[in-house]
Amino acid sequence: MRWSERQREMLAAMGVRVFDRPVAEAPPPVAAPARTAAPPRALAAEPPGARSDIAMFDWPALRAAVAGCRACGLCESRTQTVFGVGNERARLMIVGEAPGENEDLQGEPFVGQAGKLLDNMLRAIGLTRADDTPERQVFIANTLKCRPPRNRNPDPAETAMCAPFLERQIELVQPRLLLAMGRFAAQSLLRTDEPIGKLRGRVHRWRDIPVVVTYHPAYLLRSLAEKARAWDDLCLAASNLEQTP
Ligand code: URA
Repeated sequence: MRWSERQREMLAAMGVRVFDRPVAEAPPPVAAPARTAAPPRALAAEPPGARSDIAMFDWPALRAAVAGCRACGLCESRTQTVFGVGNERARLMIVGEAPGENEDLQGEPFVGQAGKLLDNMLRAIGLTRADDTPERQVFIANTLKCRPPRNRNPDPAETAMCAPFLERQIELVQPRLLLAMGRFAAQSLLRTDEPIGKLRGRVHRWRDIPVVVTYHPAYLLRSLAEKARAWDDLCLAASNLEQTP
């Protein structure tokens, strides 16, 4: 790709190396305001094709892009973005839905009551979010990086704008297994509208990575009867992890 001067500046500011691709793939020209290495904010203001550049970002560039994203209306009401935490080479990557109030305030996923339950569930299969080896420490990310106001359900346009961030996180972590928690995470990851009851209990694929689906910890807090099923899902995940080298 032949990068425009402006794109080069943006990518350089993010610490991203650029390679040349055919001209035909270049985004449409934009009136290029004279701009020196500005911080990588306002992705929405980039030419439409620019979001595909996310697929080339390294960790620092991706973090910067998420932190500065203004691609949908959620940027107006968030306190901060919630990128994700954990081991960047984790064998198990957990995908949740979206930050809630506590996560929006603290900048870390799953820090409320649901997070405590998640930590306990992880402990039960010998895993942790705390610093540890890639075998034991998970990486936790959400489908959406910003809190929907009043914790309403994410809307499809928000999900579509945020999806490249999660996809790039998965590509960088290269987990042996993805654990999708809750209907929203499972359906958006697997691009299906099958109900969660039908999705759990078997191993799916995201590209070539196995995916296990289970209930969202917040749902388990309200529906104790489903905890046994969630335990089955965790066992499925753990045995799948054991089988992968
Ligand atoms: N629920 C989620 O799905 N993610 C969080 O980070 C918090 C609650």
